Amino acid sequence: MKERLAEVHHLRVADAVLGWDEQTYMPPEGAAARARVKATLNRLAHERFTDPEIGRLLDQLAARLEAAKADPDSDEAALVRVVRREYHKAVRVSPRLAAALSEAASQGYRAWLAARDANEFAPFRDALARILDLQRELAQALGYGEHPYDALLDQYEPDLTTAEVERLFARLRQGLVPLVRAISERLDAVDDGILRQSFDEAAQWRLTEEALGAIGFDFRRGRQDRTVHPFCTAFSPQDVRVTTRVAPDQFAFAFFASLHEGGHALYEQGLPAHLAETPLGQAVSLGVHESQSRLWENLVGRSLAFWRFFLPVAQRAFPRQLGDTSPEAMYRAVNRVEPSFIRVEADEVTYNLHIMLRFDLEKELIEGSLPVDGLPARWAEKMEEYLGITPPDHVRGVLQDVHWSQGLFGYFPTYTVGNLLAVQFYRAAVAARPHIPDAIERGDFSPLLQWLRTHIHVHGSRYTPDELTRRATGGPLAAEPFLNYIREKYGALYGVPAGSG
Ligand code: ZN
Repeated sequence: MKERLAEVHHLRVADAVLGWDEQTYMPPEGAAARARVKATLNRLAHERFTDPEIGRLLDQLAARLEAAKADPDSDEAALVRVVRREYHKAVRVSPRLAAALSEAASQGYRAWLAARDANEFAPFRDALARILDLQRELAQALGYGEHPYDALLDQYEPDLTTAEVERLFARLRQGLVPLVRAISERLDAVDDGILRQSFDEAAQWRLTEEALGAIGFDFRRGRQDRTVHPFCTAFSPQDVRVTTRVAPDQFAFAFFASLHEGGHALYEQGLPAHLAETPLGQAVSLGVHESQSRLWENLVGRSLAFWRFFLPVAQRAFPRQLGDTSPEAMYRAVNRVEPSFIRVEADEVTYNLHIMLRFDLEKELIEGSLPVDGLPARWAEKMEEYLGITPPDHVRGVLQDVHWSQGLFGYFPTYTVGNLLAVQFYRAAVAARPHIPDAIERGDFSPLLQWLRTHIHVHGSRYTPDELTRRATGGPLAAEPFLNYIREKYGALYGVPAGSG
């Protein structure tokens, strides 16, 4: 079984290496040939993994483990459990449906690019309608409890349900919408002018690498390169790639993108190496993955303790731009809030409202209560309701994200799951090791990283996201810790009474 799983893993890694190269160094004309190679590797991996022999081996192994009364937490029992779950999902998607999904995704991507070029929804409309039909078919094939959206969500966040997301989001909305309104009336209370100067690109690059090294990214087991859209990908815990983008007139973009991807990378570098070629050695869910990136980007990188340590380092790189500033002023600048149109540029307070909007619309589209043609108007309506602003055009509205064009329905909520878990994990780490903030102020990130290694990273996919969260924090995924953190931090920064929201 392990040999078969390793083969599937090797095919997926080869595909990932080609994907990394595609976005970093491949010349643009290479795209068509690369897409064909990747399609072949994907098909081979799917065929190998859904081979009926894997199903037979799984049944035999499960019976043998049960007869031997094996410890359910042992590598063997966990591996059989995790592979069984993935296998039964994979075999439910017929080769015909898999091919149709992949074909619709490439058409969808081209239509989305054309629509963006024209700043019109119409060129994307038919491709999106086709993708939605296939997503409904996919939900039926995968099976679900209450809502077809459950099946789509489960692909990225195992066991999370639509009803649970609705409950969490309602609670968050109740707290965040009034807070955003209150802050919107005092936007000038925080100034981020120091971040909007000219910053030499090479010096910015070196600074991102210094920050990555400081938090514990191991450059002997990873590297950073440039891309248009920052991402992290891993070929093994010994080879983890991050990317970032440098903007010459803005300090924050490259720096925080790099810390964010660095957080993903620390998780990948900390996964159990002896299980690397099995599904058990992989990250457990997108939400848990995002919790690691958000923890380092926001809870650490946007804290006052961090800037007490890191400002002198940044000042050495940029004496003219940052020489006169203080850790407090830097802390304020990197935490400026403003309702804006673009999700990926959103601050900690408004970000989740962008996700809620997408979740509401996805659910309505999948259940059919919102026709595709009504999407742009519904987007504008929700934007006004949640953030109090109306997008001036489609590129800054409904066409901004690539996800829907790729058939990634059920994916967006994992970003908010990550934001909530980041706070829950950080709080649990500090409760267990109260010296963590002091250590950060001295530039020592190892107490925090060690806690994450032993409570999150080393477990790979051994526990479900819910079990992992309960074991690490003592409770389930929840909105309250995040809301308390946001109210406390931004209440103080903006002079908004803590009771707002
Ligand atoms: Zn991320």
